[in-house]
Amino acid sequence: MHVLITGGAGFIGSHLVERMLAEGNTVHVVDDLSTGKATNLAPFLEHPRFRFCEADIVTWDGISAAAQWSDRIYHLAAVVGVRRVLEDPIQVLATNIAGTERLLRAVVTGGWRPRIIIASSSEAYGFAQDEAFNEQNDLVFRAGGQTRWAYAVTKLVDEHLAHAFFKKRELPVTTVRLFNTVGPRQLGRYGMVLPNFVKQAVRGVPITVFGDGLQTRSFCDVRDTVCMLDELGRSEAAVGEIVNVGDDKEISIKDLAALVRERAGSQSPIKLVSYVEAYGESFEDVTHRRPDLTKLRSLITYSPKRSLAETIDDLIRIERTGLGQSASK
Ligand code: UDP
Repeated sequence: MHVLITGGAGFIGSHLVERMLAEGNTVHVVDDLSTGKATNLAPFLEHPRFRFCEADIVTWDGISAAAQWSDRIYHLAAVVGVRRVLEDPIQVLATNIAGTERLLRAVVTGGWRPRIIIASSSEAYGFAQDEAFNEQNDLVFRAGGQTRWAYAVTKLVDEHLAHAFFKKRELPVTTVRLFNTVGPRQLGRYGMVLPNFVKQAVRGVPITVFGDGLQTRSFCDVRDTVCMLDELGRSEAAVGEIVNVGDDKEISIKDLAALVRERAGSQSPIKLVSYVEAYGESFEDVTHRRPDLTKLRSLITYSPKRSLAETIDDLIRIERTGLGQSASK
């Protein structure tokens, strides 16, 4: 099978590349390396079934040919991360919406019907207060144009684009609302919590918990996430659907900090940091975020295999190896 992965040099994308190659597919990645990293693709560059184009999805001149070549497309190219959204909302809005529209139009124009998976996000639920977020629930947004929600808005538009192209152009599209995903190769630079906590614990500096730390998240290891994305790509029943993808065990950020500290055998103090201090402006955080996975489980048989503690142990090991290498240079 021919698989196109937009944003394939990113955190989730590069794990998907690995999975798709291991299954015997030919994989084509397009990525502008803005948040993705060339080093994430380094292990595959010499692979005979792998191709990489460094290009922006919004201007890439190979998009039509790639769309017609593909049997399956994973569209992950997007500007992500809370910090990026706060710093450059114009870029986030422009790239995330235009990239998806351009890709879907390229597929339609080619007349070929690859299976398409569009990445949305749990951010699309906005401020919903439900105990678990179900795909049928109402989405809750505040009035006013708070920058923090720009990313969520782009993902909502992407979902509607996907649905419109499914309804009006019969494209076999599935939209996945990805919940918090963690694992090797995730960068802390754009605000993601776990890589930051691991780095801080390994270095013995304060672990910075934003707000009161009582906010909760549900984390899924990326190596499990890509298995689920693969199975969804094979599911006919998932066509035209929006599906939550993640794990549904919930942990508070304070407990996450304590768990990382414990697994690392670290002496780092756990320090509460106000949102203003953390983000440079007042910031309304999502207090609880847990997916309702009923729909996902009705569509696929795979369920996450790695516990959060195992993922943390892997990340600590990788961080220590990296530290050791930079110290010996
Ligand atoms: N967070 C934190 N310390 C950090 C980075 C993030 O306490 O160094 C908090 C953040 O405020 C949020 C949670 O951890 O409540 C998850 O943040 P992340 O950006 O990883 O994901 P999202 O907010 O998109 O779920």
